[in-house]
Amino acid sequence: MGEVTTDPRRRVPRTDAVLADARLRAAAARIGRPAVKAAVVRAQDRVRAGDLDPAAVADAALAALPDTPGGLRPVLNATGVVLHTNLGRAALSEAARAAVADAAGHTDVEMDLDTGRRARRGRTALAALAAAVPGAGGVHVVNNGAAALALTATALAAGREIVLSRGEMVEIGDGFRLPDLLASTGARLREVGTTNRTTVDDYAAAVGPETGFVLRVHPSNFVIRGFTHTPDLAELRGLSVPVVADIGSGLLAPDPLLPGEPDAAGALHAGAALVIASGDKLLGGPQAGLLLGERALVERLRRHPLARALRVDKLTLAALQATLTGPPTPTWQALHADPQALRERTGRLRDTLAAAGVDVDLVASAAVVGGGGAPEQELPSWALALPEAYAAPLRRAAPPVVGRVVHGRLRLDLRCVPVTADAAVVDAVLAVAGG
Ligand SMILES: *Cc1c(COP(=O)(O)O)cnc(C)c1O
Repeated sequence: MGEVTTDPRRRVPRTDAVLADARLRAAAARIGRPAVKAAVVRAQDRVRAGDLDPAAVADAALAALPDTPGGLRPVLNATGVVLHTNLGRAALSEAARAAVADAAGHTDVEMDLDTGRRARRGRTALAALAAAVPGAGGVHVVNNGAAALALTATALAAGREIVLSRGEMVEIGDGFRLPDLLASTGARLREVGTTNRTTVDDYAAAVGPETGFVLRVHPSNFVIRGFTHTPDLAELRGLSVPVVADIGSGLLAPDPLLPGEPDAAGALHAGAALVIASGDKLLGGPQAGLLLGERALVERLRRHPLARALRVDKLTLAALQATLTGPPTPTWQALHADPQALRERTGRLRDTLAAAGVDVDLVASAAVVGGGGAPEQELPSWALALPEAYAAPLRRAAPPVVGRVVHGRLRLDLRCVPVTADAAVVDAVLAVAGG
């Protein structure tokens, strides 16, 4: 000691000493000591490399820590896109969040506590799904819609044919092409019809001993208009093979607000043997793939070896049940929000911000369903319009506020922002406006 050294390695503060910093101790209690220690070690490495002052190790470690133990930060979705895939699609209801928390520890997911015996996994969630769609003889839940398709194709058509219209060979998003997924299962695609027109006769001519099933895919993220034809599901009833309907959106029953969106009950009623849908789109639940239909078909899927690889977690089952049996989901509320009430609410925020000198307008806006649903339908909405330069700092605010830039202004649409977060939006904008 006392000797002045220029060797940076000799000047690196000891790990224990840094971890004793009160702020880092608090962070360790929140996100765990290993994560904090790893951040300290990285800061120490920077000192050794000569690009950090030894006195700044604690500060640097603190700055590099994730905000949350899970690494995923809660954000306020002010985009006006109800199911924003980059923001995690559906926000879970309070009931579903509570259910997830309850299920997080040890839980009776596969045990009947009365008898102490093994019980069917997720039986109460499956019963809730069956009750929500009485027309389904059987129900099963897998990891997501793509998994439901993969399981169906594997179990019902591997080494055989899936008959599919050329107008329904779609890309869902981010390079996920449905025909590629189906082909990867070992099923052969038998394309029928054309991009714009496919008839019942096209299907009938293609169906034969090699057919596993006929697949109908809801073109959820685009529309073909003009000289088009697609038979109704009910017209395919006469085919001698199962008709599988991938409805995508996850509406279990019709919603008058979204007349173009198919629903599971309607598809089964029209004669589909099996319906496939996502859990985190319009249903407003956790990521999941729902399979509903004829009992024997669903049993075949459930008993297929691949089903084990696609099975859902206890957290998903808990969230799904709470979504099905609980109060209206945030997704439903956002879709059905009253534009006049949105206008008044947004106007109050505008007034508060304008009084503080912020460059802000109240503008008519159009929200959309997103998540590959109701592609053409706009929901009349209202938004705050702010300088475009606010977009980046608002994304970095705590909590982050994510809007959408339209015509050189940043729009914040409150439709998908919980009312309880209005004050946080105001605070974030004021902080950015104040520099
Ligand atoms: C969204 C969608 C899928 C994929 O579902 P994921 O749950 O995202 O895997 C499949 N088909 C259609 C028609 C869809 O809209």
